[in-house]
Amino acid sequence: MKRLEELPEHATPSRDCPKCKGHGLLTQTLGFHAGVSLCDCIQPSPCPRCGGSGRILALMEGVERVGRCKCQILPDRARLFNQARLPARYADATLESYEARDDGARAAKEAAEQWVRDYAAGTTKRGLLLHGEVGRGKTHLLVGVARRLTLEHNRRVRFVEFTLLLSELMEGFERGDGRQTVLAPLRDVEVLAIDEIGKGRCTEFELAVLDELITQRYNTARVILATSNYAPGNATGEKTPNLALHGRTYAPSASSAAKSGDPSYYDRGLRVPTLVDRVGDRVYSRLLEMVGLVAVEGADRRQLLHNQQNQLAQQHQATFEAPPVPAYAEPRPAEPRRGDAQLTALRVTLTSQMTPSILSSRDPKLVVQLERLLGELQDVEEGVRPERPVEELVRDVLHVAGRLGLPAANRKWGASRG
Ligand SMILES: [Zn+2]
Ligand SMILES: [Zn+2]
Repeated sequence: MKRLEELPEHATPSRDCPKCKGHGLLTQTLGFHAGVSLCDCIQPSPCPRCGGSGRILALMEGVERVGRCKCQILPDRARLFNQARLPARYADATLESYEARDDGARAAKEAAEQWVRDYAAGTTKRGLLLHGEVGRGKTHLLVGVARRLTLEHNRRVRFVEFTLLLSELMEGFERGDGRQTVLAPLRDVEVLAIDEIGKGRCTEFELAVLDELITQRYNTARVILATSNYAPGNATGEKTPNLALHGRTYAPSASSAAKSGDPSYYDRGLRVPTLVDRVGDRVYSRLLEMVGLVAVEGADRRQLLHNQQNQLAQQHQATFEAPPVPAYAEPRPAEPRRGDAQLTALRVTLTSQMTPSILSSRDPKLVVQLERLLGELQDVEEGVRPERPVEELVRDVLHVAGRLGLPAANRKWGASRG
C-alpha cells in the first residue's frame, strides 16, 4: 500500500490553464453577490487520497488523527468567499487591481494590505475604518481585504451594506424573529465588513439595533471592518448631508482640502455632518476602540472613470467602435447622469418632504425602501453608472414616494425632457 504522500495530489489546478491562470477558481456573480467556482481544469474524479470524503487519517506526533484532505482547500476557500456575500459589481475587485494613482490612494492601499498581513499573523485584533469622500475606492479596498481573508487565509467574513444591514434586521423583526436570532449571523461571524456606515436615515430604533450588534461584537472581541463617507472627528451638530454641497457628505481635513485646492467647507462656513453626528456617541466611541482609521484620499475615481470613458468615446466616435471597458469598470446598461439638475431637484424635494412626523407615521419598510432608492439616485448624480435605466429608477422612486404620501410624488417627471 502506498503512503499518503506518494499518492498524486488531487484538485490542483493546471498551471497553464488559460481560464483560471493556475488559480483554480473563476469569478462569477450569484444574483446580487460575487462568487467563485472551481475551474474545470480540476479533475472531477474522486481524490485518490481521501476517496472523495474529504477526510484523511494522518499521523500527527505519533497519534493517528482525522484531518481535512488537501483536495478540499480550494472548495473550502470558494465556500468561504461565496458566504461572504460580496457585492456582485465588485466581483473582480482585488487589492492588486486597486489602482493607486496618487500618494493618498497608495497609502490607503498599503494600509489595507498591511492590515491583512497583521490580522492573518495574529498581531492585531483591531479592525479598520476606511473613510473618505465618495468615489475614492473605499468599497473596492474593503472587498479586496475580504477577498484575501477568505481565499488566502481561510477566514469567515460577512460583507453587508449598511442600509441593507438595517433593513435586513428590520425585516427579521417584522417577521417576528427574536432579536438574537436576527442578530446572530452578523454577531457571530469572525469578520464583519460594513460598507457605508452612517448612510441612510439612521433612525433611533435603527441606531439602537446597530449599537446592540456592535456592543455584542465588542464584548466577544470580534473584528469589524467598515467604510464611511463621513469623516471621523468631533461632532458638528449637523445631522443631515448639507444640500448646498449637493449631498456631499465628507469634510476633508483642512490640510488635504488645501493640498487639493478644493474650496474648504470651513472657508465657506458650511457644516458637514461627521460620523459621530450620524451614528451617535455610543456607537462611534465603541467603533473607535475597535478599528484603526485609514483615510482614503486622492482623486475621485468615478470622475476619473467618467472622463476616461468620455475621452474613449470621443476617440472612437470616428470609427464607430465600442470603446474598450477600462480595467475597473463593469459593463452596465445605462449611462451615468453626473450633475443632472433634474435628478438632484427631485431627490432634494423628496428628502425635504420626509419630515420626522411623516417618517414616524408611515410604514418603516417603505421609508427604508425610499431611502435606498434615493441613495441610488444620488450615486447616479455623482457619476456612478446605474444598474438599470434611470427612468426606471425614477419611476420606482415616485411609486414609493406616492405610497408614503409625499406631495412630490405627483410631480410630472420627464415632461421637460426632450
Ligand atoms: Zn483552470
Ligand atoms: Zn482528497
